[in-house]
Amino acid sequence: MNAPVNIRMIRENRLLELTWKDGPQTILPFRKVRQECPCAMCVDEFTGRRILDPETVPENLDLAEASLAGNYALRVRWSDDHDSGLFTWVHLRRIGEQMSADTPSPVDPPNEATDSA
Ligand SMILES: [Zn+2]
Repeated sequence: MNAPVNIRMIRENRLLELTWKDGPQTILPFRKVRQECPCAMCVDEFTGRRILDPETVPENLDLAEASLAGNYALRVRWSDDHDSGLFTWVHLRRIGEQMSADTPSPVDPPNEATDSA
């Protein structure tokens, strides 16, 4: 799995920007990333069911601190003090792909191929 070549935190817009070697950028709102937190407090580790109610994540959530976990994931501490989530590159990239599939968001790459599964 490929690590991003660049990671940028755009604090003023609360966006996380990941640039991949082999694909378009993934731009994710902090809140969205927090809602997709894969840790055992947010997701039932046996059933995979989401425990976290996404609506409880504050609109103005900020990213307090982020550090690399090896070269496979990003460990994030949020402004609500939640810091047990480990976001693998695959997971972050999938969140981005889901977002662009769900809604024609303004962060969509303009020339996206129609058959990108
Ligand atoms: Zn979590």
